[in-house]
Amino acid sequence: CGIVGYVGPKPALDVVVEGLARLEYRGYDSAGVAVLADGRLGTAKRAGKLVNLRNALADEPPPAGTLGMGHTRWATHGPPNDRNAHPHTDCSGTIAVIHNGIIENFAALRAELEERGHKLNSDTDTESVAHLLEDELAAVGDGGLAEAMRRVCGRLEGAFTLVAVHAGDPDLVVGARRNSPLVVGVGKGENFLASDVAAFIAHTRDAIELGQDQVVELRADGVRVTDFEGRPAEVREYHVDWDVSA
Ligand code: GLU
Repeated sequence: CGIVGYVGPKPALDVVVEGLARLEYRGYDSAGVAVLADGRLGTAKRAGKLVNLRNALADEPPPAGTLGMGHTRWATHGPPNDRNAHPHTDCSGTIAVIHNGIIENFAALRAELEERGHKLNSDTDTESVAHLLEDELAAVGDGGLAEAMRRVCGRLEGAFTLVAVHAGDPDLVVGARRNSPLVVGVGKGENFLASDVAAFIAHTRDAIELGQDQVVELRADGVRVTDFEGRPAEVREYHVDWDVSA
């Protein structure tokens, strides 16, 4: 439902949770975050309102990192509980994924993954993507999260905005979209990803709208967009000049 990603100098958790709060008006049933710090991935997720997630984060703070992402879920596959909330992780626990939309062919993908020995823990269509990324990343090699994402997207049917992070790529947030929105917020020494500009408008009004079937590599000092085949893509840059009420 709501998606926020951040990389820059600020504490990512604060930016991400604040961004999720700005997307709350859309409605949701669960919320979660992932933060990367010192090559370690920390995640937290809770069914219910954002306050439940905030309480969980206060009880058990994740490592303080400057790269992270967050999600508010509107359940389509699997009941709204802690386990089905996003982010979802792979078997190694080093890749985390959040997702808006529906992956139509997830049952076939899940069966294939289980046959290869993957253990899936949720009822969601989303979790398969984390495990597909794990296999593709093993094939591509470390530093290849964006290429792994392009390969995985080529196998997905349906509508999706996906954002992924990997403990082995500590400066990188990767996003992808098909039939579901994803916008980049371009800052100075920091960059944002969101399903809606409202999530980052407090930080920057310079935005890039991703086109259909595109993958974005987001780092603190730059943004690179390709199509699913890895070719550099045309993007639409614009300035958000309307006011957003807090
Ligand atoms: N289909 C996914 C799920 O049920 C994502 C739903 C959403 O867009 O929030 O977990």
